[in-house]
Amino acid sequence: MAKIIIANWKMNPQTLEEAKGLFDAEASEALLHTNLETIICPPFVFIEELAKIDSKHLGAQDIFWKEGGAFTGEISTEMLKNFGVTHALVGHSDRRYVIGESDEMINKKVKAALKADITPVLLVGERNHEDDRAEALDQQLSIDLAGLAGDEISKVLIVYEPVWAISTSDNAQADTPEKTLEAIGIIQKIISEKFQLDYGPVLYGGSVNEKNAADFLKHKDIGGAVIGGASLRKNEFINIMKIVSRI
Ligand code: PGA
Repeated sequence: MAKIIIANWKMNPQTLEEAKGLFDAEASEALLHTNLETIICPPFVFIEELAKIDSKHLGAQDIFWKEGGAFTGEISTEMLKNFGVTHALVGHSDRRYVIGESDEMINKKVKAALKADITPVLLVGERNHEDDRAEALDQQLSIDLAGLAGDEISKVLIVYEPVWAISTSDNAQADTPEKTLEAIGIIQKIISEKFQLDYGPVLYGGSVNEKNAADFLKHKDIGGAVIGGASLRKNEFINIMKIVSRI
């Protein structure tokens, strides 16, 4: 299975010029690695212009569950599809804990994405290092995936991203590949028990960089990575694609 590399730029960079430069470099490199699936998620306002450079690698950082109407500030799946967006992050911890998004809202977003034929990239993971990981994953997945059939869940890209491991968290450090594999086992077990589905590889996110990417992604059950900070460093992100492409 092709490894999946997802860049999450978050609320960066600040100008269209910078966004174009970064995207041009990263998307051009992505085109060279046909054995990888690379998706770049820029801020919404840059998507239209970046789609003119390359519309094959575009993802959104969020979506809304309604198709249109009185939803001030929101962006619909249709608007994104017009520019070739194929993937959308759903349930990132910034949105869960800074914006206050609930699992019920995340569930609606997963369903809206699937309905629009956009691949939902669902991020789950415990908030603090000392939290009960299995309990947190169980709570999130039970609601985030509620009401979906097995064939729908198999279209969702699930990412294990412990919040404490995200590079901008206090004292952040990446999880270990061993602990990540354990968490992936827990995720697969929850999905098997609750949804009777044999779910395959799960992505990892949290301080992935050029030094540790191969340690994670060499494992069959780690299907890819969501990369925040390092995706803003053009050369480092290009190196990650090169490294993972050789695995
Ligand atoms: P990071 O961010 O790679 O900077 O840790 C990952 C994320 O928040 O998705």
